[in-house]
Amino acid sequence: MRALVWHGKEDIRCDTVSDPTIEDPRDAIIKVTACAICGSDLHLFHNLIPAMKPGDIMGHETMGEVVEVGSAAQGALKKGDRIVVPFTINCGSCEQCRRGNFSVCETTNRNKEMADKVFGHAGAGLFGYSALTGAYPGGQAEYLRVPFADQTHIKVPDGLTDEQVLFLSDILPTGWQAAVACDIEPEDTVAIWGCGPVGQMAIRSAVLLGAKQVIAIDRLPERLGMAAAGGAITLNFEEDNVIERLNELTGGKGPQKCIDAVGLESHVSLAQPDTLLDRAKQVVMLENDRPHVLREMIYVCRPAGILSIPGVYSGLIDKVPMGLIMNKGLTIRTGQTHVKRWTDDLLRRIQEGQIDPSFVITHSVGLQDGPEMYNVFRNKQDGCIKVVLKP
Ligand code: NAD
Ligand code: ZN
Ligand code: ZN
Repeated sequence: MRALVWHGKEDIRCDTVSDPTIEDPRDAIIKVTACAICGSDLHLFHNLIPAMKPGDIMGHETMGEVVEVGSAAQGALKKGDRIVVPFTINCGSCEQCRRGNFSVCETTNRNKEMADKVFGHAGAGLFGYSALTGAYPGGQAEYLRVPFADQTHIKVPDGLTDEQVLFLSDILPTGWQAAVACDIEPEDTVAIWGCGPVGQMAIRSAVLLGAKQVIAIDRLPERLGMAAAGGAITLNFEEDNVIERLNELTGGKGPQKCIDAVGLESHVSLAQPDTLLDRAKQVVMLENDRPHVLREMIYVCRPAGILSIPGVYSGLIDKVPMGLIMNKGLTIRTGQTHVKRWTDDLLRRIQEGQIDPSFVITHSVGLQDGPEMYNVFRNKQDGCIKVVLKP
């Protein structure tokens, strides 16, 4: 089959690789009908989470048609079913899965020991995200092996297009979880850094959840325009003084709730470090220069407020001013998304027409154009906000 394969930093190619096969009775194989490129894929593209190996297949936002089912998944799935695949692989029965904490499933990361050593903690298995998250090949491919498939799927009801449901795999529940984590009250201002696909979903979610005011921050006009169309007041961080403007818009007190939908990108947007050590040096420099997103949030958030952080960080080098967090009494909520916790509710909202996440798609192309699309998405060329690949 054809698949998008990681060869090195900023080097992804469309290669011919072996077709996946059933390896465990709980597996299923899908024929991929649509898959998307995520901001998290860009961190791997930039080698900011330096665990990828040449030959690893990319992709964790995938859906398709079931073509083969292992014996232990046959009660849950059959050939011909159309499913969306949550990017957090979950077993459904460990202590964390039973509590709905699917992104920290205790079973599905089969390289737990290695991940514990590198990260200090292993989360759930993730698709297309290196050996540290279980070495599961990703879904930017013609076929995908879905492990723990009896649990790790969302069945698509008839009458919905791929575009309407694909983002249940990741960015819709990610933006939703980030907004839910803010415990939004009717008088709240929610400030959201980053108007990429995750930020866009967080903006719409915060509006749906009844925030008085949503303020979105980015520098790209087309992304700010989309944020405004979703009901946000927008700030351009290259033109506006973000902290001053946020204070002005909140009677001098700062937003009660702050969402970081940027993550590692706020390091990359300034310069491109090659190694974790270079990145560490850069972060130290930033303290005197311009605070990155997290530091801005901590600084401007109203005391007793909430910092909700879907943005991805890795390693141990981020300098977080804990004294400020402590003395302001801030609450931090973060993590990879517990996708399946939210998808029944979100699927219903899609069916009822409350949400149509397809608005973020700006590019829809074949798999062979994937490598070029990584550059287009990374460089924010041609107004690119979200790329969907149709193998
Ligand atoms: P993206 O790269 O398209 O968007 C990031 C946006 O942040 C860009 O529009 C960029 O212009 C903007 N930005 C950069 N520096 C900024 C700054 N200083 N202030 C304000 N905005 C700034 O990525 P995305 O797909 O929207 O993903 C966003 C983040 O969410 C990434 O870190 C990604 O890894 C993460 N993510 C997390 C989960 C999860 O489960 N927690 C799931 C999906 C994605
Ligand atoms: Zn993602
Ligand atoms: Zn589990």
